[in-house]
Amino acid sequence: MIDYTAPLRDMQFILSELAGLDEIAALPGCEEATPDLVAAILEEAGKFAAGVLAPINRQGDLQGCRLTADGRVVTPDGWQEAYDLFRESGWIGLSAPTEHGGQGLPKLVSTPVWEMWFSTNMAFTMLPQLNVSQAEALQIAASEDQKATWLGKVVSGEWGSTMNLTEPQAGSDLAATRCRAEPAGDGTYKLFGQKIFISYGEHELTPNIVHLVLARLPDAPAGVKGLSLFIVPKYLLDADGNPGAKNDVRCIAIEHKMGIHGSPTCTMSYGDEGGATGWLVGEPNRGLETMFIMMNEARFGVGVQGAGLAERAYQAALAYARERVQGRNALTGEAGLPIIHHPDVKRNLLSMRARVMAMRALLYTAAGWFDVAHHHPDAAQADKCRRYVDLLMPVAKGWCTEIGNEVCDDAIQVFGGMGFVEETGIAQYFRDARIITIYEGTTGIQANDLVGRKILREEGATLRELLADIRGTTAQLAEDPVLVSIGVDLSTHAENLESALDWVLANGKDNLADVLAGAVPFLHLLGTVVGGWQLARAAQAAQRRLAAGEGDGAYLASLVELARFYMAGIAPRALAHAETVREAGGPVSRFSEAAF
Ligand SMILES: Cc1cc2nc3c(=O)[nH]c(=O)nc-3n(C[C@H](O)[C@H](O)[C@H](O)COP(=O)(O)OP(=O)(O)OC[C@H]3O[C@@H](n4cnc5c(N)ncnc54)[C@H](O)[C@@H]3O)c2cc1C
Repeated sequence: MIDYTAPLRDMQFILSELAGLDEIAALPGCEEATPDLVAAILEEAGKFAAGVLAPINRQGDLQGCRLTADGRVVTPDGWQEAYDLFRESGWIGLSAPTEHGGQGLPKLVSTPVWEMWFSTNMAFTMLPQLNVSQAEALQIAASEDQKATWLGKVVSGEWGSTMNLTEPQAGSDLAATRCRAEPAGDGTYKLFGQKIFISYGEHELTPNIVHLVLARLPDAPAGVKGLSLFIVPKYLLDADGNPGAKNDVRCIAIEHKMGIHGSPTCTMSYGDEGGATGWLVGEPNRGLETMFIMMNEARFGVGVQGAGLAERAYQAALAYARERVQGRNALTGEAGLPIIHHPDVKRNLLSMRARVMAMRALLYTAAGWFDVAHHHPDAAQADKCRRYVDLLMPVAKGWCTEIGNEVCDDAIQVFGGMGFVEETGIAQYFRDARIITIYEGTTGIQANDLVGRKILREEGATLRELLADIRGTTAQLAEDPVLVSIGVDLSTHAENLESALDWVLANGKDNLADVLAGAVPFLHLLGTVVGGWQLARAAQAAQRRLAAGEGDGAYLASLVELARFYMAGIAPRALAHAETVREAGGPVSRFSEAAF
């Protein structure tokens, strides 16, 4: 088994120096998040992740899940014990409101905690993650009665949660959804249809499962504006509110996948025996809006999966590179040295570390903005942060998952041939990571959202505001002789971003196909620059503390060098992405489909 050590020092640095933990703890409703409490939570989470979740990760991969002849799904050994401990420890409700049984802590505090869960056992963690996302949707859209019945059990994790969107003909395109719901005449509905790829659609880890299902009412308009959302429990509740009779919903198959073997991916059949009983959540035909609340929460969480898996792969590669002896020193000829000594391996490791830190800084900063958006008494400040979160949500999901995959891939390279064989365990992270750029909306769908809804619709206004903030940082960096070169580089990369933005805005109406052909490169460009901005801010904060003689000097100096490396070794991708955005769309559009 590969060891895991929670990167608490990096996490704490980003929380306090970049994401504004102190300011957030001063907001109304966030006062509990004192530095001592946050430090204690992170420490405990690190122990839980390393001691409970990491040890069962590999066996989950090896055993996978099994569908029995009588329709039960058996999860890997250790899953039940770990889930019970996880639930009893109150981890699921860390950021849920206290009135529903949560602990009401800011998202900024729960984000590093979830990163640790994903680092150590992503397949397991998908189960409680679904509860968090579902709770978010129910809080906003469910009736008071529904909240009283379902929400507390979802927040505590007593019952499991799922999200049911995908159907064989309706993947990225939910307008094609066919699952239907008919009023039963008593306030409930009967649901019929099939959903595929439903994570944790069936299992016996909890005594009930709350499915949230998208379906069409009989008179619903076509397309996404005709989708409604329903609560459909695995077991109907008896008079005391406990799981009673089995509902007409069953798992008819589970997928055999390249990764996340411990997470059952189920084909669910609704209504084979007269209709599955469900309750409408929110207004008819507005189900997708509510589902988007759940998906937005889940999308951010999937971005955190990217950072978490990358951190774990980086730790494994670093440990291997310190042990594996191979070759001679190119300059002195000295033999018997570990491979970290080779400049190429060292560059690879530094590049992994820089990307992990950039992802983490982007995600935690976005989590901090989320808290400000929800709690800041100044409406203008709250609104600015809400717009930043909206703009960057597809980047948090799309960029962090793509980069997470890259880092897991690079980790295998550090292992050489031992990376390709399963026994070292590194291959599992690579296989597990491959899904994250696909589910919760592929990178292509995230990029369409970014360019279409977040940029073109508001003519780039929020991105221009963000660029002004980045320029504010470059101006400050220019004042410091140690950091000035980082500022110059960041400024160049921000210019690349701005020129691509100008091109997108100029062509969004007349050459939309060209713009959309460059949407994924644009998403990468924005992620690359925002990640670099955050690492430049980290260098600034580290330098400030160095100058004041505070903290661990070697660590702080390494953060300045990390930002320098990112600007030279990662951020130049911004130029290539900007070129691709501006220049590649035309050839793509002109290339005839028949010519392939
Ligand atoms: C392990 C796993 C777990 C999952 N868990 C769940 C779950 O719990 N609940 C649930 O509802 N679903 C779940 N899914 C389904 C997942 O969300 C979908 O697979 C995903 O949204 C993509 O849909 P699709 O597979 O039909 O691909 P398609 O939509 O067919 O996409 C194929 C390709 O076409 C591209 N494409 C499609 N449309 C566009 C467009 N408009 N613009 C640009 N490119 C486009 C995509 O980017 C992709 O590259 C899961 C899937 C897997 C594999």
